[in-house]
Amino acid sequence: MSDDDCPCGRGAAYADCCEPYHRGAEPEDAETLMRARFCAFSKGEVGFLVRTLHKDHDDAARPADEVEAHLREGLAALNYQELSILDTRPVDDEGVAQVLFLAKVWCHGKDLSFVELSSFVHDGTGWRYLLGAPLLVSRLSGDAGRLRITSFPDAAQGQKGQS
Ligand SMILES: [Zn+2]
Repeated sequence: MSDDDCPCGRGAAYADCCEPYHRGAEPEDAETLMRARFCAFSKGEVGFLVRTLHKDHDDAARPADEVEAHLREGLAALNYQELSILDTRPVDDEGVAQVLFLAKVWCHGKDLSFVELSSFVHDGTGWRYLLGAPLLVSRLSGDAGRLRITSFPDAAQGQKGQS
């Protein structure tokens, strides 16, 4: 992996991979948005993170500059190292697409890697992040890298409208 490789793990240079999304292009599917969001966490592109929140996401109700400041504060200490897409589920009847991923994240030498099942919805303009159910890898038993959506412990929480 060379220095200009995109942090999202696709193996392309940042300029040819996630950077165009961070500059305003719309990712073509949920997985591409997921990768671009991970990359934005890695590179501190907080404007993109806020722009791609679905209006029903909890943070979308807060002022954008407040959310951006909060993200910036958190990201300063975090090292988003590596992304593995574990599983995807195509768009369902309610328009929700899901991506299960493993994010390798470090904070001051502490392993904060997590697995998350994220839900994405297209709002007519582009794909947006609706919600996620992150679980710290350190709290999981077994190999996190072998998880699939059907075996993810909190899979039910990622389903919008189910309770
Ligand atoms: Zn990328």
